[in-house]
Amino acid sequence: MDLTPSWRRDILVTAALLLAGLLAGALFHAAAWGLALALAVALGWHLRNLYRLDRWLRGRSRRFHPPESRGVWDELFQRIYRLQQRNRKRKRKLGNMLSRFQAATAAMPDASVVLRADDSIEWWNPAAERLLGLSHPRDIGQRIGNLVRHPDFVEYLARGDYREAVVFPSPVSLTTRLSARIAPYGNKRRLLVVGDVTRLEQLEQMRRDFVANLSHELRTPLTVLVGYLETLAEDPEAAGQWGTVLQAMREQGERMQHIVDDLLMLSRLETEPPSDDAGPVDMPAIIDRVVADARALSGDEGHRLEAEVERTLWLRGRASELHSLVANLVFNAVRYTPAGGEIRVRWGLEGEIPVLVVEDTGIGIASQHLPRLTERFYRVDVGRSRGRGGTGLGLAIVKHVLLRHEGRLQVDSTPGKGSRFRCDFPVTRAVAAGRQRLTEGR
Ligand code: ADP
Repeated sequence: MDLTPSWRRDILVTAALLLAGLLAGALFHAAAWGLALALAVALGWHLRNLYRLDRWLRGRSRRFHPPESRGVWDELFQRIYRLQQRNRKRKRKLGNMLSRFQAATAAMPDASVVLRADDSIEWWNPAAERLLGLSHPRDIGQRIGNLVRHPDFVEYLARGDYREAVVFPSPVSLTTRLSARIAPYGNKRRLLVVGDVTRLEQLEQMRRDFVANLSHELRTPLTVLVGYLETLAEDPEAAGQWGTVLQAMREQGERMQHIVDDLLMLSRLETEPPSDDAGPVDMPAIIDRVVADARALSGDEGHRLEAEVERTLWLRGRASELHSLVANLVFNAVRYTPAGGEIRVRWGLEGEIPVLVVEDTGIGIASQHLPRLTERFYRVDVGRSRGRGGTGLGLAIVKHVLLRHEGRLQVDSTPGKGSRFRCDFPVTRAVAAGRQRLTEGR
């Protein structure tokens, strides 16, 4: 047995006490009484120490330091005291950390809200009270969807796909626009971070308005200029003297018209809410028309154009936008494919998904350009694009049309070999040619 000196001393003292009791009792012919008395003294001493320990632990004695005692009891008091000290220190450290964390979250301009698995609110920082109108302690345990009720936010919360942020008006002030993102963590907890994007949205709106107004303002003077240039070109006297100049001016004027038209189209796609008049669109007819126009564009370059079209498959959407999408993809294929190259357009169901594929055997696109292809005015080769009548806005239009039709664009390309643009549309937009939805009843 591994006994500490205190234990050894206590055992000796107890043994000595019992022996003394026994001997003293024997002197008076009552050894048993003497022993009992010694035992009672020992027991009383232990009980007294137990009582002091109890009082001290319950904090009744108001003493911070442990009671003084001897032997094992003293050792026990000191050990418990040291444990308490260590705990106090740890608590103080944690408390300090918590205050620092609270000060940091209080200084954060963005709202942070901790949500449990059932969407109930566990914790939030002061910015959440300002931006979302949460109030302490009223809203603890409330479901966030009951307090922030905007349909876009509620749908985002339920969706479970939190890769993108959602923008919605603040429940506190309708003029404040908020952007929210959710990050799941730990034990089915989610951190909701909400920022004020009012200023950013205002700037974005100003940019959109500026482009829309500018394009609109340029349109009429351009039409007049190009009109006069056409008239002049028809005049034999002017044409004789200024023929090449007039031709160049007309071409540049028409180029500007195309840019302005594309900018206006983009503005409309960006600003107009997706209208409800999305009816079944005859995609096969649109593709036929675009392929015929593409043949004209190809002219004597002799591209081979093939279309494989599922004639019974229509698409619920907006005809003018879908026409623009198909035209931009097919005309690009013609523009960026050398003479004699091949262009294939495919429209049909893959599984249940309506898919449009435009493939060419053209110059292709190096992989580093692919992520930026749908940006406005992004061109791999500016000279070539301009030379072929491009505006640099075609794929930006394609991207926006797809966004408004919940579609997805996928581009695969190998420089020198060709490109493949694939648009996937949602199953729910497929329509059988008889204007009866393929997905009805599903
Ligand atoms: P642009 O009017 O210049 O064609 P787009 O937005 O339609 O503008 O396309 C952006 C750029 O992507 C083009 O300038 C071109 O470099 C590249 N691109 C688009 N389609 C193709 C294609 N089918 N093959 C090769 N490059 C392409």
